[in-house]
Amino acid sequence: MAKCSVCFRHCDIQEGKLGFCGGRTTRDGRVEAYNYGCITSLALDPIEKKPLARFYPGSRILSVGSFGCNLRCPFCQNHEISWSEQAREFAKTAETLSPETLVDIALQTQTRGNIGIAFTYNEPLIGYEFVRDTATLAKARGLKNVMVSNGTADLSVLQELKPCVDAMNIDLKGFTDSYYKDVLGGDRAMVMAFIEEAVKTAHVELTTLIVPGENDSEEEMRELSRWVGGLRNPDGEAVPLHISRFFPRFHMQDRAATNVRTVYRLAEVARENLPYVYVGNC
Ligand code: SF4
Repeated sequence: MAKCSVCFRHCDIQEGKLGFCGGRTTRDGRVEAYNYGCITSLALDPIEKKPLARFYPGSRILSVGSFGCNLRCPFCQNHEISWSEQAREFAKTAETLSPETLVDIALQTQTRGNIGIAFTYNEPLIGYEFVRDTATLAKARGLKNVMVSNGTADLSVLQELKPCVDAMNIDLKGFTDSYYKDVLGGDRAMVMAFIEEAVKTAHVELTTLIVPGENDSEEEMRELSRWVGGLRNPDGEAVPLHISRFFPRFHMQDRAATNVRTVYRLAEVARENLPYVYVGNC
């Protein structure tokens, strides 16, 4: 048995068993990434799809995902690989790639506009060792590294990634502790601390999914955007905020998609505090 220190859950993991996220295990008395190099998705995506609006716009990036997640968002778009029963099945069948192979694929796709590797689709932080090893190699070969994350990890994990990750899109899913804790199974304070540290070395953009009846008030967006307005990216620029529209799916089918007018109205509210606000899924 060993304790995982990656996130606030601090799982005690028995030898050969999995932690809550399904991506970490204990081997020879030490916690490690069980999903190391296990690839469930690989695609060459426009960088705007991550979403990143102000990091090499117009480029493409080789996007790679594994399995497992430390949150439990009931509306997850990637539940097949994140936290459903299906996700556990991926553990048995996923293809394994070494960091060297993945970097070679990224280099081969440079002719198609690829600038590097994006660690995305599932939560990359629960398998940060693979991100670190691959991104370090990629950086040495002149590639850029992007991470799309829920930001739910200890700052010691971020320290490992800082030298090699160039840009991140981090979810700031709402601005109340109760929404994070009761609906998402998360920890808002951990995410905010992660974001505050990440902007010191990486280009960071944030994403807020507007869920009707949960985080769609103007007051909450005003407070959230005010806090984001106090952050600065390494180039001194304000941190961009992506506000996106919820669609019912997975375990949250009890409400309609967010009204488009609500998304645009909340974007206007955010612009009171932020110069770079983008709407998504509208
Ligand atoms: S990263 Fe996974 S195993 Fe580690 S504490 Fe968080 S949920 Fe548990």
